[in-house]
Amino acid sequence: MSDPTDSIGELHWLLGIIQNVDVGLIVIDRDCTIRLWNGFMENHSGKQPGEVTGKSIFKLLPDVPSDWLQSRLDSVFLLKNSAFSTWQQRKNIINFKSYRPITGKSETMYQDVTFLPLSAINGSIDHVCIIIYDVTEMAVDELTLAEMGRRDGLTKLLNRTAWEDQLSSEYNRAQRSGSSSVLLMLDIDHFKQVNDSYGHQAGDDVLRTLSELIRETTRGADIAGRYGDEEFAIILTDTDEEGALIYAERLREMIAATTVTHNQQNIQFTVSIGIAENPAIGSDHSQWIENADNALYYAKEHGRNQSMLHSSISLD
Ligand code: GH3
Ligand code: MG
Ligand code: MG
Repeated sequence: MSDPTDSIGELHWLLGIIQNVDVGLIVIDRDCTIRLWNGFMENHSGKQPGEVTGKSIFKLLPDVPSDWLQSRLDSVFLLKNSAFSTWQQRKNIINFKSYRPITGKSETMYQDVTFLPLSAINGSIDHVCIIIYDVTEMAVDELTLAEMGRRDGLTKLLNRTAWEDQLSSEYNRAQRSGSSSVLLMLDIDHFKQVNDSYGHQAGDDVLRTLSELIRETTRGADIAGRYGDEEFAIILTDTDEEGALIYAERLREMIAATTVTHNQQNIQFTVSIGIAENPAIGSDHSQWIENADNALYYAKEHGRNQSMLHSSISLD
């Protein structure tokens, strides 16, 4: 016969693991009442097990919609299968601060969550264990990588693909709301000469300086991107042509007054800008680009260092 003190000892160290393991463990019963709240939960919430056991799980997870949580728990109790929630679906189920002093990359903790059915000796499921994993570092790395994939390496503006996605959304949004947004296509004048005269590195400095000016002058809702080589695109949301022309001229003049210093050489440059309002229903966002591009082409043909409205050019 086995020694009962052995199994008590085993239970004791098992409890030690549950208490100290670096994941959150909550056990609830069929009434959704909390029965276990481990050390991880205590440390992050500041709530002692004595404060929460006997309380409803719905009270302890106030940020989670109760019908969402109820449906998860119902399916675990009924189907006896585990249920999951990943950080991509729901950032977290309980809003803990993320304390990672060295690698701290996020204010709040991202969580993957497993709802695990716990069977009694007779096989019935009377309890569910909610396991909460802190996946903040992985989530932040993944989000950073995804964001980097959307950015142009040199200027850190949106790259063409990401920017065009935004243009398409903005086109649809403006159509639905009946509002006016304006697209600016901007191209550096004689940029090839900048590279030829001062070198490619100097050209890169010019591109970075221009991007900085665009970032400084646009509002939060505007969407700027690097459309191609030395061509940039800016969507001014909820703006009309008149406002856009004022903005474009201000930016153009700022650029013309800017000096980029590279290896003690002072470089000045100018830009041409084409401006087009979102085209009417029945069109699409590529038509919008084409209109702005035509206006840009016209500005180039008619002397460069100027802004041109699509509505004021005659296409012959
Ligand atoms: P235009 O006034 O008609 O626009 O003349 P342009 O010389 O600006 O136009 P063009 O399209 O002939 O030249 C664009 C140049 O941009 C050629 C290319 O070498 C340069 N370029 C493209 N991408 C980069 C880049 O990332 N860095 C640098 N330094 N130059 C680049
Ligand atoms: Mg150019
Ligand atoms: Mg160009």
